[in-house]
Amino acid sequence: MTFSLNDPDLFRQTAFLGGDWKTSTSGKSLTVDNPSTGEVIGTIPACTAEETGAAIESAQVAQAKWRRSSSAERAALLMAWYQLMLDHTEDLAQIMTMEQGKPLVEAKGEVTYAASFLKWFAAEAEHVQGEALVPTPDRRVIILKEPVGVTAAITPWNFPLAMITRKCAPALAAGCSMVLKPSELTPYSALALAVLAERAGLPKGLLSVVTGYAQDIGPTLTASPIIRKLSFTGSTKVGSLLMRQSADTVKKLSLELGGNAPLIVFDDADLSVAVSGTMMSKFRNAGQTCVCANRVYVQSGIHDAFLDRLAAKVARLNIGDGFDPQVQIGPLINDAAVAKVKEHVEDALAKGGRVIGKPLEIRGRFVSPVLLADVTAEMKIAQEETFGPILPVFRFEYENDAVEQANATPFGLASYFFTNDISRAWRVGEALDFGMVGLNTGSVSMVSAPFGGVKQSGLGREGGSLGLEEFLEVKSFHIGLPAA
Ligand code: ADP
Repeated sequence: MTFSLNDPDLFRQTAFLGGDWKTSTSGKSLTVDNPSTGEVIGTIPACTAEETGAAIESAQVAQAKWRRSSSAERAALLMAWYQLMLDHTEDLAQIMTMEQGKPLVEAKGEVTYAASFLKWFAAEAEHVQGEALVPTPDRRVIILKEPVGVTAAITPWNFPLAMITRKCAPALAAGCSMVLKPSELTPYSALALAVLAERAGLPKGLLSVVTGYAQDIGPTLTASPIIRKLSFTGSTKVGSLLMRQSADTVKKLSLELGGNAPLIVFDDADLSVAVSGTMMSKFRNAGQTCVCANRVYVQSGIHDAFLDRLAAKVARLNIGDGFDPQVQIGPLINDAAVAKVKEHVEDALAKGGRVIGKPLEIRGRFVSPVLLADVTAEMKIAQEETFGPILPVFRFEYENDAVEQANATPFGLASYFFTNDISRAWRVGEALDFGMVGLNTGSVSMVSAPFGGVKQSGLGREGGSLGLEEFLEVKSFHIGLPAA
């Protein structure tokens, strides 16, 4: 498969530094491959620490001006960018499927979802509000919301566009600038987004896309006193490392880290709602989302019927190249991801797990979906995020046991449960120790709702109006009124 972009100019193999498209002075580059075929798509510059530093300085100059722009001006830029994304949906989706592997229809869905953050925060830009207090007759206090300043973002490969706009849009809406390091596995989506930002009228230097190795770029971003905030989406391991590295400059942090989402099906659930919710939550992006159901707990009364219905649906999933319109499950991102899934399945089988339907089949980076029954808490698949199309089912008898097992994880991002009992719905919804809870739905991401986790799943919230607050500082402006 080769690109057939309507607008080939969207595919850039240079970095976007301080408003200029450049190769690196390092002379070095990284190759990017197509996970379906292993073929090289192209290269990207391996930007140096010095180039990262220069991008930070450009962002500082640009932000000094941008913070004085009107909210209407910021909204107009975001809306122009939004429209350009929609106009180029097909090309953006092709680039994404090529470098990330997800089915083209899912990639198109992500383009729309990613663009929705630009529109949402365009509107939010015009709704930043402070407060006025009258604490004593001779004092007024105005509480102002001001942009945090120069910010940085480090983003992952599983949602190559949405994880960027979810950070960039509120940053620009608030009056901040941003230096972005996208995943080295999916840089072309990020660069195409920057082409469109430039066409939308992005002021020079306000957003840079620094490509290359994390170890060259990450420490420069975290050590810089100019950068006042870092927004990161990725693994808990890297998130906590970035937190440590950011301590010396006391940066504000938003961290959206790993999850290990439980999904509980109670006897009183609507079976078909529970089955379709589970399919949606588990198999999107071949199971490579941080909110994918990772542990499915099913009450004994509905257990066998649920497994039967699920097995029939799993058997109908097609695996293959994301450009094939018949495919629902694309490749995993790299060989390490495939090895982890294999290890989890083998470990579960060795400890008494049972495959329902077809066994695990691996061809290159294509991993067949597998339904596992009789899963227990001792198995690796119960303890770690699998990030693949494996659906492990645990049987349980009592509500409190299911909730206890669901909460028995250091992570706290998404959780799901299915019941038609109104009292149970409240009880379980409040007992689940997660940043997001889905009742009778397999989806918890939408632009208007805060997205984020508790415990080791991270800090802060993205999307919704809280997403903008993350890029605003509070200033208390005290005004003395001497007696006349
Ligand atoms: P995943 O396990 O999903 O690949 P990572 O946390 O490894 O998640 O990667 C998410 C992002 O963090 C990517 O852009 C990656 O390049 C970046 N990254 C990885 N290691 C570091 C590091 N030591 N410092 C800064 N960024 C890093």
